[in-house]
Amino acid sequence: MLVSCPNCQSMQVIKRDVAKRMGGLVGTVGGAASGAAKALAGAQVGSRVGLVAFGPIGATLGGFAGALLGGLLGATTGGVAGAKLGEVIDAQVLHNCECLRCGHRFSDPNAAESSDPGTFRA
Ligand SMILES: [Zn+2]
Repeated sequence: MLVSCPNCQSMQVIKRDVAKRMGGLVGTVGGAASGAAKALAGAQVGSRVGLVAFGPIGATLGGFAGALLGGLLGATTGGVAGAKLGEVIDAQVLHNCECLRCGHRFSDPNAAESSDPGTFRA
């Protein structure tokens, strides 16, 4: 997908993806926090299953595996959701594209189908 600068028609345009990166980070942190609750539940289930199957060592290993799985799942889910949200913000709100030739910033015409909210009438 090629985007040309509306100001100078240069094809040297980069995507800034500021909100996408921020969203991914915030989502991962938030997801990890909510994943902690899942990790706790996973640890309980894991240790119970491990205890039945392999005794005390199984309980420790099962608890660890359950916690790891729960935490990872939460962080990944949050990160993906955050990045997706950031992508929408980039496309709809921020001027996501920057021209390397003239420095002009503009919204990606391919990403934002609706009217450009960054363009205000004087
Ligand atoms: Zn330009």
